[in-house]
Amino acid sequence: MYYGDFIWKDKIHVGVHEPIINKVLWKNVQDILDSRENRGKQAKWGTRHFTFKGLLECGECHRTVTGDKKTKSSGKEYVYYRCTKYKSECSQKPVNENAINEQIEQALKDIELPKDTVDYITEALKDSLDIKRDTTDRERKRLEDRKIKLMTRLDRLYEDKLDNNITEDFYNRKFNEYTEQVTDLDSRISNYTQADIDYYRYGSGILELAHKASKLYRMANDEEKRELLGYLLSNCQLIDKKLVIEYRKPFEMIMKRNTSFRTSENSLTKAKNTLSGALPSVERTGRDSNPQLPP
Ligand SMILES: [Zn+2]
Repeated sequence: MYYGDFIWKDKIHVGVHEPIINKVLWKNVQDILDSRENRGKQAKWGTRHFTFKGLLECGECHRTVTGDKKTKSSGKEYVYYRCTKYKSECSQKPVNENAINEQIEQALKDIELPKDTVDYITEALKDSLDIKRDTTDRERKRLEDRKIKLMTRLDRLYEDKLDNNITEDFYNRKFNEYTEQVTDLDSRISNYTQADIDYYRYGSGILELAHKASKLYRMANDEEKRELLGYLLSNCQLIDKKLVIEYRKPFEMIMKRNTSFRTSENSLTKAKNTLSGALPSVERTGRDSNPQLPP
């Protein structure tokens, strides 16, 4: 599968920004999919410890929420989470892990997309990618043609200088002017090359994950769960035994889409709009700021 060097619904700055899909994590997600789905393996629950360690923050005092184990008088062990209340006055009480787990499972169901919707949006992504590619290719060709014209002009200029048809001063001025334009074109052409990223596979990877997140979560071990949640959620606060969850960008949009669908039957059109609008836009640096070449 694919991970990308760009951020969602923003400009592309290859290699500058943190990629939205971390390479290692993406591989791990794929590993979970492969091993659990194909072999029907179940997670090992024997080593079960604090699944939500490091993921939760206290909604009241914003300190870390930490996991703890307790043994009841019956001898039965249970896990609970509590605010560390470090240097803070906080009224929050410990919460049983099961209560948190139920809410997390619900949160993952909230981003679940049905298979036919995934297929439909994937098609829409593919179409919009084709259109984007066409535009990009045409623009790159236009820039390359302009560069060829400029190079020809530079050659002629040099010949004119050799033949003493133009003054030294005129030659220098024109030479600098053309060279500057060539440099600018070179950098714009290379921008287009770098921006040639496979949106389609990226987008369909996100959709596949949204489609399977809930199932993946149930099959994953603690370590994998933590990783999966870290990928899907950007913030998770615990207040009065309730989780206040923020999803990462693409999943937040899917959740909103699902929420609005519960009150609307117009599913496919909306799905298309939501995700087509969510495609990252290609950065077009240096619009035609330089004067056009005379014909
Ligand atoms: Zn607190």
